[in-house]
Amino acid sequence: MRNTLTIGLDLLYAERCSLCGDLLSSDREWRYPVCGMCEAELAARDGPLCSVCSTRLVSEKDICTRCRNRHYLFTSNYSLFIYEGKTKELINQFKAKNVKPLAGFFAARMAPVIQDRHCGFAVVPVPYRSTRKRARGWDQIEAICRELRRNYGIRFHPILKRRNSAAQKSLDYQGRLENLKGNVYLRKHAHPPDKVLLIDDVFTTGATADACAAALKSAGVTEVRMLSIALDQ
Ligand SMILES: [Zn+2]
Ligand SMILES: [Zn+2]
Repeated sequence: MRNTLTIGLDLLYAERCSLCGDLLSSDREWRYPVCGMCEAELAARDGPLCSVCSTRLVSEKDICTRCRNRHYLFTSNYSLFIYEGKTKELINQFKAKNVKPLAGFFAARMAPVIQDRHCGFAVVPVPYRSTRKRARGWDQIEAICRELRRNYGIRFHPILKRRNSAAQKSLDYQGRLENLKGNVYLRKHAHPPDKVLLIDDVFTTGATADACAAALKSAGVTEVRMLSIALDQ
């Protein structure tokens, strides 16, 4: 239940940058809420990137060593940022501290990527564990998708569900894959589109994308890609 304190905090966040605390000055800043200075400091994705997971390549060509040794069921992931510094803090604000207007900030960054690179792919949010959603009272990924629809006319299809399994954080790729096996599935009466673009927050090992791709492909989806906020490499 919202109390005076929560409403007060919402107002506080709405007027100040969620990263540096400075007062926000423009309409755009007020809406998101991140100041222009902090936005400029978010790690940009330059240089050659792995065509599968979008990690920065050092000496490899086209595909990183990790992806070369794995056979994912999804085709590719592209992450807007690297999961470090201010980006990490921003995601923490969004997920742990419930700064809801940040959904609009991430959607604004995702929209051009979806329109330019993933034409013909239907947006599907990666599902949360239901206990987690219940505890927080909202689904952050769906919130981004709703912003995509509202501000950019990009439709989304919440067709995946997830049974409760152990938290993923401390597990490696194999552990995550085992943990997720059979726990991601299609909603009853869902009509999966031909090609799917999954939306998620942090791409770590690829196990979540793989589990979603397994469920989608067994229902006839031909190609699955992912777009995520940040890459934890
Ligand atoms: Zn700032
Ligand atoms: Zn890679």
